[in-house]
Formats: sequence, C-alpha cells, structure tokens
Amino acid sequence: MKIKPSHKRISFAGPSITNREVKYVVDAVKNGWYKTFDKDIKKLEKTVAKYVGVKYALAGFCATHSMHLACLVCGFKKGDEVICTDFSWAATAHVIAYTGAIPVFVDVDPDTWCISPEAIEKAITSKTKGIMIVHSFGIPCDMDAIMKIARKYKLKVIEDAAPALGSLYKGKKVGGIGDVGCISFHGAKIAVGGEGGMFLTNNKEYYKKAILLSNMGRTDRKATFWCDTMGYEYQMANVTAALITAQVERIEELVANKRRIYNQYYKKLKDIKELKLLKEKKGDRANYCYPAVLLKTDKIKRDDLVKKLEKFGIHARNAFPRMSLFPMYKVRFKNPVATQVMKYGFNLPAAANLDEKDVDFVCDVLLRLI
Ligand SMILES: *Cc1c(COP(=O)(O)O)cnc(C)c1O
Repeated sequence: MKIKPSHKRISFAGPSITNREVKYVVDAVKNGWYKTFDKDIKKLEKTVAKYVGVKYALAGFCATHSMHLACLVCGFKKGDEVICTDFSWAATAHVIAYTGAIPVFVDVDPDTWCISPEAIEKAITSKTKGIMIVHSFGIPCDMDAIMKIARKYKLKVIEDAAPALGSLYKGKKVGGIGDVGCISFHGAKIAVGGEGGMFLTNNKEYYKKAILLSNMGRTDRKATFWCDTMGYEYQMANVTAALITAQVERIEELVANKRRIYNQYYKKLKDIKELKLLKEKKGDRANYCYPAVLLKTDKIKRDDLVKKLEKFGIHARNAFPRMSLFPMYKVRFKNPVATQVMKYGFNLPAAANLDEKDVDFVCDVLLRLI
C-alpha cells in the first residue's frame, strides 16, 4: 500500500506553549519597566539556578554568548589549547576560537556521541587549558571520567548543555557539574524563548566576571556609563525571560513529553538491524531533546533518506559535520566515530506537538524507506 504524505508537518523541533507562557509575557510587557525592568530576568535566573542546583545563574541573549563568557572567565587566550568534541553545532568550537585559543577536536563515544574521555586524555599537551564538552542531543556525557581527567591535569571544564536542560547524570542535573555550564533557550530547544542563554556556575569570581563582561564591562546592570573593561552587550531581554520562566517551570512536563516520543520510537525501532537508536546510559536520564539514530546500511544514503522523509512531511535532520573539517580549523586526530556519525547519523522529529499517530507515521515511513 502506498503511504500518503502527512498533512501536518512533523517537525524536528518546536515548543509547547500554554496560558502560563502567555500570562507571564503579557505581565512582562505591561510591568517589566521602570524599577522592575529586570524582574523576570532575576526570577528566571533564580528558577534555573535552583532547578539545576548551582549557586549562580546569569541570563544572556543566547547560549553562544554564555559559552563565550565561560571561555573568557576560564581564562582561555591566544596560545592555549582547549580540547573540544568534534561533533557539535559550530558554536561549541567558535566560542573557543573567539578568545584566540585553539580548539583541539577529539572523537566521541559511539554509544552517546558525547566526547570520549580516552580521546581527551590522549590529546592533552603542555598548552591544554580546558575541556569543552557537549551533552549531545540531551544525552549526558561521562562526567565522572571527564572531571577526573580535569582534576588530574588541572583543566577547566565547560559543559555545553545547550540542548540538555533536564538531563541527569547519575541523578545530577547536567550544566551544574563542570566549572561553568551553559543552557540554550533557542526556539528549537526543549524550553524556548526564541533566543536565550544561561551561564551557570558555583564559582563566585566567575559569576562576577561574567556579569562585568556581559554588561559592556560595567560592574553591574544598574551601573552608569563607566566601563572598567571592554565587555560585550550579551544580556537577555526581560520579556524573553518571562517566556522562558514559564517554560522552565514546566521543564519536568516538557522532559516527560520528549521521553514519551523517544520511548515510542524506541519500542518500534529497537530491533531494526539497519538502525541504531541512541539510548541514555543506565543511571542517567536523557531529556531526548533530539532522538538520534545511526543508519547501519548502505542500501540507502543518509542524505537521500532525510530528503525522502521530507517528501512525506517529516522533518528529520542530518547529524553535524565534523567541525575540524571547517576551513578555519585544523584536523589533529582522525576521529573515526565522528566521521561515521557525520555520514550516517540523523535526528528524528521530536517537536512537542507530535502525538502517537505522528510518531507511528514516522516509523512506518522510515521502515518502508530502509
Ligand atoms: C543550540 C546549541 C548551541 C547554541 O545555542 P544558542 O542559544 O543558539 O546560541 C550551542 N551548542 C549546542 C550543542 C547547541 O545545540
């Protein structure tokens, strides 16, 4: 039987918006001015700090900015090397390069697509100052192994937890384990603000320095026009903060929804030998922001598969290319796993508005195509 395309676009990502979001935003539009110009930003920072379990949270325009601040407060500079996963969105590497430091790209674990601790240790040189890790697609990294290496060699650890709000490593929220963690509230993430980022740390000096740098080099948000250093305009808008606050208050519900979608994929696809669906490790909780799959057959090319899914109204997405292959970066290691994932990896749709029928439809079409 021929399968007809879906009427509804089955989106890769997209938010769940309720009356709570609308209420908070309307209130911010009406009341977030004058003396209360940053009331929702403060509320959001408190909410996220409490949820993740860190002392300090600083809201910013986007996670890329928060991660740039993280690199600056960790002291990365020209001549330094920072070990970085080869498999991520470009922001993960660019923020290192912004400081003049060199990202040294290493391979990922085949079961999580997160940075491999063995690969980190092999890449350490006398110039290495830090490690930039990513909880890829919401699956937690092996944090115990990473923190052990960091302590042994006295390296800073930045967690790019951009897509991973609500993911747990051995019961601990990711983003709160390294020296600095960063979360994104981009419209395609689990909790959205259109754009938005959060810088998280337990280090008071880092927090104070991040405030200074995110505020054009002024010591606090209410400071005058005096600048103590050359900073950046990296702040979040109060209206955005109101929207994100409503989302973060619902984070457990949003995670449960992503996990419902993932579990349905898992049930249908786990025994298909042409596919490997990535899975959280025992004892962890992935938020499954973007369910990830490796195509294990050459009968159909990954690019063709994703294009064909699109014809059925299904928005899947190719996995990231290796960042070390970008013209401005250098390959130091061959990174065979990242190379394989670049070629055979893809993400299944997991927008918040997918129901059981939609997920079944994706599985049916996918199985037909492979
Ligand atoms: C989304 C994302 C970012 C960037 O977040 P923005 O808020 O868009 O700047 C960085 N790293 C990873 C892994 C991401 O998924």
